[in-house]
This record gives sequence, C-alpha cells and structure tokens, in this order.
Amino acid sequence: MADDPELIPGIHIYCDRWCGRCAYTSRCLQFRLEAEGRESNNALQNFDALNSQFWQEMGDALVLAMRFIRDIAARGDIEADELQRETSLSVPPATLQLDAREHPCAIAALLYAGMVNEWFAASDELPDAEESLLAHPPLFLEESIQVIRHYNYFIYPKIVRAVEGRLSEGAASGRDLRDDASGTAKVALIAIDRSLAAWSLLYKEYPDQEDSTLSILLHLDRLRRSVEVVFPEARAFVRQGFDAPHP
Ligand code: SF4
Repeated sequence: MADDPELIPGIHIYCDRWCGRCAYTSRCLQFRLEAEGRESNNALQNFDALNSQFWQEMGDALVLAMRFIRDIAARGDIEADELQRETSLSVPPATLQLDAREHPCAIAALLYAGMVNEWFAASDELPDAEESLLAHPPLFLEESIQVIRHYNYFIYPKIVRAVEGRLSEGAASGRDLRDDASGTAKVALIAIDRSLAAWSLLYKEYPDQEDSTLSILLHLDRLRRSVEVVFPEARAFVRQGFDAPHP
C-alpha cells in the first residue's frame, strides 16, 4: 500500500487529526492503514470532495469573522489598544527560559479552552434552553459546534510543541527544528482560524451570550496574531498536499 503513488508522504505530520473532516483521506497512508481498506478509493475521493467543500465554506465564514471584528472595532465597541494587545502575548520564545507551557501564547490557548467550556455551560443555563447544546445542537449549528469542540483542546498542545521546538533551536541549531516549529504553529493557526469562523456563526444566534462570544472572538483573534508574531514563518510553511499540489 505504501508504494501507491497517489499517497502523499508524511501528509499526516502537519494535519489536524480530524480524519472525519479531512479532504485527503484517499491520499493518506495513516488513514488507509487505520481504515484497513474498508472503504474503496472512489468512496474516499467522494468523501474528500465533500470535506473540501465544507472547509471552503468555513473559509468564507472566516473572512466574515475578520470583517465582523474590524467592524466592531470601527464602531468603537472595542478599545483601540484591545486590538493591539498581541504584543503582550508574543514574547519571543528564545528569550524565555521557561517551560513552553508557560509561554503567554500557551497560557492564552489554555484560557481559551476554559472560556469555551464556560460558554457552553452558560448556554445550558439560559431560560429558553431546553436541552444541552453540546448533546443536542440545533441542526444548523451542528457543524460550527463540531469545529469548536474539535479544536478546543487541540490548539494548546500544538502551541506548546511549537514553542518547545523553538526553544530547542538554541540548544541544537538546525533547520529541521525550525521547520517543525513553523509547521506545528501553522496547524495551530489553522485551528484558530477555523474556530474563529465557527464562533462568528454562533455569535448572532445567541444574543444573550453576546458579550462572552465577543470576548472569545477577540481572545482568539489576539492569540492568532500573537502566534503569527512569534512564528513569523508559520503561515508560509508548506504542508505537502494541503498547501502544495502533490503529483
Ligand atoms: S492527513 Fe487527514 S486522513 Fe490523514 S491522519 Fe491527518 S486528518 Fe486523518
């Protein structure tokens, strides 16, 4: 199976481990091994095409989310310095002699996970809530909630690993370590982008939670920009298959 030219070597190294939503299952050896050939290649290709469309639509939602945050800022609902605060999170890892888990970006990612849990707990307490939003999400929000839940505990370990990689660069310089940190940071950024898009879709549906949803959007936006400052090469990192066509 590993000799199949359709497969993209190493595609799973910088993926988000969400095979159920991956647009490359037909080209991933890891997936094929785990699926043990239960699905035909045609079925996988159809599945991939559907997922590709799903992420395209989520990409459109991200554009709206970004516009939405800028509009709120333009209305004056956000303090001007609120949008600039990424500098307080973006201490370059090389200057820190701390455990990567203590890096401000890692702490912010952990804080985000807590904010998500609090948001869902509060939504279940709303007067008109009949059942748990997580257990029984409305159909039209099901996908957004899936996105939020999938990445909720994904972003933190990715940021920790990226910071660890960056810290190790000092001890053992090498391009591989730098590339790995950038690739890992890129996956964290993608998870943040997608979470932002999903939250922007929830925002208008829960007016009673408007303030906490806005706090989450701002927090994620700040984290996103902080990670970009700490890992300036991350966005340009090319993941085989996902970012570059593979023959
Ligand atoms: S590349 Fe896709 S199919 Fe392969 S492990 Fe990652 S998410 Fe799953």
